[in-house]
Amino acid sequence: MKILIINAGSSSLKYQLIDMENEAVIAKGLCERIGIEGSKHTYKVPGKEDFVEEKPMPTHQEAVSLVLAALVSPEIGVLSDISEVSAVGHRVLHGGSTYTESILINEDVKRVIRECFDLGPLHNPANLMGIEACEAVMPGTPNVAVFDTSFGMGMEPKAYMYAIPYKYYEENKLRRYGFHGTSHAYVSGETIAYANLPEGNRRVIVCHLGNGSSISASDNGRCVETSMGLTPLEGLVMGTRSGDVDPTVVQYIVNHDHISVDEVLTMLNKKSGVLAVSGVSSDFRDLDAAAEAGNERARLALDMFVHHVVKTVGAYIAVLGGVDAISFTGGIGENSPAIRAQVIGQLGFMGVKLDAEANKTRGKRTLISTPDSTARVYILPTNEELFIARETKRLANV
Ligand code: AMP
Repeated sequence: MKILIINAGSSSLKYQLIDMENEAVIAKGLCERIGIEGSKHTYKVPGKEDFVEEKPMPTHQEAVSLVLAALVSPEIGVLSDISEVSAVGHRVLHGGSTYTESILINEDVKRVIRECFDLGPLHNPANLMGIEACEAVMPGTPNVAVFDTSFGMGMEPKAYMYAIPYKYYEENKLRRYGFHGTSHAYVSGETIAYANLPEGNRRVIVCHLGNGSSISASDNGRCVETSMGLTPLEGLVMGTRSGDVDPTVVQYIVNHDHISVDEVLTMLNKKSGVLAVSGVSSDFRDLDAAAEAGNERARLALDMFVHHVVKTVGAYIAVLGGVDAISFTGGIGENSPAIRAQVIGQLGFMGVKLDAEANKTRGKRTLISTPDSTARVYILPTNEELFIARETKRLANV
């Protein structure tokens, strides 16, 4: 059985075709500049040369048509007929407070995705375009929505409520949702399975550290805390996002610089974080190089990043009443021995110990704690597409 995974952005569409017999990627690719001049489709089959075509894609529907044409092409295709695609799984940013789990798409589900446009203004409209394009081009094939907010819906009210007038929760659904949920769900689940954690000892902390960073605490697979909030701006210091700031900072900048709240929010999302502190880059490889060469602001940016990760992990250990496993994922979590060593180094007081040799590994599922460590520590590369494929298989019942 083969499942197509679609991640539709406003002008792009990423996809993977996964064979569920062995969970292997058969083909994957990217349509770029949808609705813009110079649209481009890149199609990759493992072990073969990339295929690139530049054809007009005024909407996501033409993009999906081009993807399907490539998949069944006699020259470069991997399917003899498109009916071999049993179901399509869609990454959807926001399910609001309606959906706590992935769901088979029908008109009601599309209505809720539409109702959440104001909560996910950049992503939800694009996600819906991807869904409607598949419905138009592959009629009769089941579509499943996997929400990035589902995992955070596991939190209890004491964790997800903001202490602001209650009507904003009741009338406007303002609450903490958490993001990167697909990644946190996949990595926490895989951590439990890979570490073979017995029931009663499944307190897992996942550090998803990349350009966007978030941390989750879960118990037996259920999210107890996660660091992002109403939007991905809350929580850790990130590549270009500030993470937590006192809201008065926004008021001050509005009044001082005579710019709008929206402009300040754009600044906090796109021009802040380690990029702003260092003045060098949002990319941790550039920051490492600059700090190494003596750039003090790059060093400060790295120190701040680690400090906020440590502070959050410590708080989550307290909330969980202990921890059985900690997994690192995301571009930084998977590839930076230095960041992992600094974070875990701070947990030495509670007997968590890193195996320095194993910690040199990059990008590969690896146990990196010592046998006598009080919690197991892993590098566990995320695989959001595989999580979506598994959910799609389960819900489409194919
Ligand atoms: P992501 O958003 O998960 O793709 O992660 C992107 C981030 O991972 C960027 O900040 C990269 O600098 C960082 N990254 C990738 N490789 C490395 C590496 N070898 N060492 C440190 N950071 C890395």
